[in-house]
Amino acid sequence: MERAAIACSNSRSVLHVTIALYFSHLVCLIWMSYTFYQTLYQEMMVITWDFLEVYGRETNDNHRPGAAPANAQSEVDRQNRELFKSQKVRDVVFCGECSKPRCVYSNKKMTTEQEELLRRIKEDRFYSCGGSLLPADSDNLGLVVKESVSCSSEVETNYFTTSLRHYLPPICIHCGSAENLLDDSDPYISSLYEEYSVVRPICFQCRNAGKDTKNLGGKVCF
Ligand SMILES: [Zn+2]
Ligand SMILES: [Zn+2]
Repeated sequence: MERAAIACSNSRSVLHVTIALYFSHLVCLIWMSYTFYQTLYQEMMVITWDFLEVYGRETNDNHRPGAAPANAQSEVDRQNRELFKSQKVRDVVFCGECSKPRCVYSNKKMTTEQEELLRRIKEDRFYSCGGSLLPADSDNLGLVVKESVSCSSEVETNYFTTSLRHYLPPICIHCGSAENLLDDSDPYISSLYEEYSVVRPICFQCRNAGKDTKNLGGKVCF
């Protein structure tokens, strides 16, 4: 009789514990669902507002990041100005939008870590004109590019004057193309060489579009 009473009491305790566990799980489930849907709702609202902001507006190529006009000189460029010298060009990185090469600078010859980092940047095709090599919160290991440029900016002078130029192909100063460059026998180029010691390459397309090349070498002295 006594044993039967104990067994009955035990089974009641088990039942109470089971019910308590069931309700705690239920409360937990309701709370998780609530927080999940609340986060989802907030994110949906942000997306909706972003959408409404641009909906109905005309977009064109000017909305690409690299198409923004180049800043006069960004604060980052001011801090790095000592690096922007032809002898500190270590490599080039190509813009993911316009494909122009932009010089990569570092104070000293690249270390293995810097070379590895640059290899990954090139693989990821993260870079575009006017941006940094890496997101702002990443360690760039001392590798920088000029940020005061846009896709419409000419190829940097340092591209043509760096000691690496022997490894870099001649390219059009305006569009960065290595194809269809005017050669030295072209009347336009040869006439410039009569006056200037250095004439930057220019392609047929850019010349036909009315663009001039740059004669940065100064006049030849006789
Ligand atoms: Zn670009
Ligand atoms: Zn060109």
